Amino acid sequence: MADPKDLRIVIVGAGMGGLGTALAFAKKGFKHIDVYENAPNLGFVGAGIQMPPNVARVLDRLGVWDEIVAEATDVQGTSIREGSTDEELSHVAMPNMREKYGYPHCTGHRASLAGGMYAGCQREPAITFHFSHTLLRIDSYAPTALLTFQPGTAPNTPSIQVRADVVLAADGIKSVTRTQMLASLSLTTTESDTGQAAYRIMLPRAAMAHDPSLLALLDSSTVVRWIGPRRHIIAYPVSDHTIYNLSTAQPDDAFASATNATYTTRGAKAQMRAVYADFCPLVQRMLDLVPGDDVVEWKLRTYEELATWTRGCVALVGDACHPTLPHLSQGAAMAVEDAAVLAECVGRVPVGGGPEAVARALKVYEMLRKPRTSELVELAAHSGRVLHLGEGQAREERDRLFRDNGRGGSVPDKWASPDVQQMIYSHDCVKDAEERFDELYAGLQDGDGPAGKL
Ligand SMILES: Cc1cc2nc3c(=O)[nH]c(=O)nc-3n(C[C@H](O)[C@H](O)[C@H](O)COP(=O)(O)OP(=O)(O)OC[C@H]3O[C@@H](n4cnc5c(N)ncnc54)[C@H](O)[C@@H]3O)c2cc1C
Repeated sequence: MADPKDLRIVIVGAGMGGLGTALAFAKKGFKHIDVYENAPNLGFVGAGIQMPPNVARVLDRLGVWDEIVAEATDVQGTSIREGSTDEELSHVAMPNMREKYGYPHCTGHRASLAGGMYAGCQREPAITFHFSHTLLRIDSYAPTALLTFQPGTAPNTPSIQVRADVVLAADGIKSVTRTQMLASLSLTTTESDTGQAAYRIMLPRAAMAHDPSLLALLDSSTVVRWIGPRRHIIAYPVSDHTIYNLSTAQPDDAFASATNATYTTRGAKAQMRAVYADFCPLVQRMLDLVPGDDVVEWKLRTYEELATWTRGCVALVGDACHPTLPHLSQGAAMAVEDAAVLAECVGRVPVGGGPEAVARALKVYEMLRKPRTSELVELAAHSGRVLHLGEGQAREERDRLFRDNGRGGSVPDKWASPDVQQMIYSHDCVKDAEERFDELYAGLQDGDGPAGKL
């Protein structure tokens, strides 16, 4: 390989991880980047997303943060409330995120985040998008990869084969790549039963305008969590305070009898209301505003840590390798961090290095990222367990800690906990890769790496 920047980079999936990866590789000077996406367009889920300082730092380096932050809410604090009474258990102020971490903690619309990254990709001539292309199969992993895609949905359309020097599979929680790659190595993947499901709700300003208490929530810069046994709701304003976004977590009872391939189920609004029937009138009034009778519920899925994220010139990105519960608001952030670290690692493949050098660089990416993502995935699960406690001593102790309002440096809701924020938000993933790449790369022998076969 004369110049690593000539490597043929194929990205599977144009979600948060895929878009971030395409952009990060283009910014590193890679010249041939093809993104294959199953859907006919970006098709955003209508939902909000929290964008913490660690992802803002990466997006700024990629040149797209200014556009994304323009309509985001600059979060000033979090209020954790008893769901049944609306009594505030804890208020954790977050006034100085910029001073501490260089970037604010924001909430925004998913369409702004993905749209901002997509706009950035479109400004890069090196990136080509192939929508309506579904990855069917990985036919080879090394020395180059051969992939089979199904283009379009018309019957009898022949599949196509694509050859690549590097494949970055950001194909999400249902990743075909993960399943096939681990099976090809005779490794198993174990899905963890989270037992949880989520509704995602967006209330427009016009729907809330008649209710001063609801308007006050929409006009605030506070993230509110209403918690109760086995359930909670997190809510915040997005899109310049024109939309109030609610995301829930509750037992996945509806899925026990209705599991499907899309991990979603449609239910009656009354069913959703019933789940939160004992929550306070303020919450009831918001749920009442959900239009129509149909609501979509998402099953929340995770996997136990995978034995490997790479094989040959193929690597997994984002939810494909470390799906997480949403309680730490780090899933998309981790996917975008993965993207930046991947570009840093593959960008350091030496001239003339060949496929083994690519495989080693991908393994270094895994070594840099896996300890951190595993820790954050576990913290998110832990937060869920603590937030959902029922009556008893553990809950009393939790609420006592909540009342300290983070002054002791720790809050039971790990998302709001100053010590956890310090650990997550101060991490500069690119700097970490720059500092540690050479040593980790040199430590890997051709053939077997510590985390599995290259
Ligand atoms: C309720 C909820 C709230 C959340 N809140 C937050 C938050 O506040 N902050 C945060 O950082 N994260 C949050 N997350 C997590 C975040 O949404 C995910 O971690 C993130 O979207 C993962 O990005 P990804 O690119 O890995 O996967 P995805 O965004 O799922 O993208 C995968 C893409 O691959 C495509 N694809 C799949 N299979 C194929 C195939 N065979 N061929 C071609 N294309 C394919 C899909 O169509 C999709 O576009 C939340 C998640 C949930 C469920």
